[in-house]
Amino acid sequence: LRWGLTPPGGYAIGAARHPDRPAVVDEQGAVTFAELDDRTTRLANGLLGSGVKAGDRVAVLCRNHRGFVETVVACAKIGAHVVLVNTGLSATQTAAVLRDQGASVVVADAEFRPMLARAPRGVRRIIALAEGSTRSLTLEGLVAESPAAALPRPPRSRMIVLTSGTTGTPKGARRPEPPSLAPAAAVLSRIPLRAGEPMLVSAPLFHTWGLAAFQLALVLGSTLVLHRRFDPVAALRAIHEHRCTSWFVVPVMLQRLLETPEADRGAWSTASLSVVASSGSALPGPLAVRFQREYGRVLYNLYGSTEVSWASIATPDELMAAPGTAGRPPRGTRLAVLDPDGAPVPPGRPGRIFVANEMLFDGYTNGAGKEVRAGMMATGDVGQLDEAGLLFVVGRDDEMVVSGGENVYPREVEDLLAGLAGVREAAVVGVPDEEYGQRLAAYVVPAEGVDLTADAVREHVRANLARFSVPRDVVFLDALPRNSTGKVLKRELPRP
Ligand code: ATP
Repeated sequence: LRWGLTPPGGYAIGAARHPDRPAVVDEQGAVTFAELDDRTTRLANGLLGSGVKAGDRVAVLCRNHRGFVETVVACAKIGAHVVLVNTGLSATQTAAVLRDQGASVVVADAEFRPMLARAPRGVRRIIALAEGSTRSLTLEGLVAESPAAALPRPPRSRMIVLTSGTTGTPKGARRPEPPSLAPAAAVLSRIPLRAGEPMLVSAPLFHTWGLAAFQLALVLGSTLVLHRRFDPVAALRAIHEHRCTSWFVVPVMLQRLLETPEADRGAWSTASLSVVASSGSALPGPLAVRFQREYGRVLYNLYGSTEVSWASIATPDELMAAPGTAGRPPRGTRLAVLDPDGAPVPPGRPGRIFVANEMLFDGYTNGAGKEVRAGMMATGDVGQLDEAGLLFVVGRDDEMVVSGGENVYPREVEDLLAGLAGVREAAVVGVPDEEYGQRLAAYVVPAEGVDLTADAVREHVRANLARFSVPRDVVFLDALPRNSTGKVLKRELPRP
């Protein structure tokens, strides 16, 4: 059973049970389970032949396509560890990640070659994904020229996933070993995904959320539909053409979808969809409500992190009844909101979120861990429960602003501003203030053609929240700086 949960095991079982079902559909077309099993055996032999050994760390720097999936499976077939690198990093950050993670081989899309200009010396080999290059190794070349010879049973390989680096340099997090059914069981306890059906994964596969979707596809024997880049209309078209029943996104993708003119969206039917699963960052309440008004009760909000996996999941009905909620812990997960002494806080009051489940990570690759209390791991976020036990994530521990002695969580103000007519998106941070210690600054992106004033923004907050939550500075921007999973990079906002 456990073997079936590993990438090579999952595809080998798929190849035996439903050989002709597409395992991956991408811009190049479809590859079936049988083909994928065969191609990855060839690739694994090719990797061995080019000097990659069990225990080596192979970094993957790829967009969402079959090459990503095949590299992960082939590495596992020879016992090489896989380091998933965020494709949105700079050349310097990429070099630091490769060095820190001890990568000796990198498999990269051609477009990311410039990111490897400063690759550390330890990187012995770069395998390109593009075809037609004669001078360097390519993945297609390795598949085409290597035999499908049976491979010896490999030692266990590990998957190393990087955190988003929202609060600094991305940290390498080791996935738990051995693989277990717990992550899939947790998701299926709240989300009615069906086995063997096509799922569109728009969230990047290198991020913990996209990777989770990939592993769900493995467990369910589902077809992964992948696009290199997110485009709202291409996503709708893929859902229509492949009759996708589930779609995995980060919240900013839903926002971009709803900003797309109706005329461009209308041609494609999403009637096949029964699950749209959003995770990776906060899902603003107004966005969830609007999405469901237009696309039906299909939206699920999963709250979690690279370190704790799923902490809670909100269903479509919960998102309509309590917009902004992150729902309840799934089966097998314990969640508590604790005060600084470690005691549970009563409903309606904020505290630090702690989680325990079978999916907790195995420590950072630099040896550090996360704070643990009573067997539960700190998520690094602050949240509160309501009387019905629904969780609301208030913000990150370290984002709390203390203004004139009052604690303010920027997310509360951000969510409020997101609901103000004429606001496309907004971010709020604390900035130093001589009188109050800190004060709030709001960064607002107005909707196209809207003439919004700083006073109108402040007035809206004043009418809805406490006095100390009103941002003193209001800065208008054309766009917010975001990383590749759509998280706002607050440290890159200009000073007010
Ligand atoms: P780093 O640890 O490098 O600063 P990161 O914490 O952003 O980066 P991830 O593991 O990708 O790395 O993100 C997890 C965090 O994202 C959570 O701790 C939480 O702050 C936020 N998050 C994820 N999903 C949700 C959600 N559904 N609602 C609210 N917040 C979410």
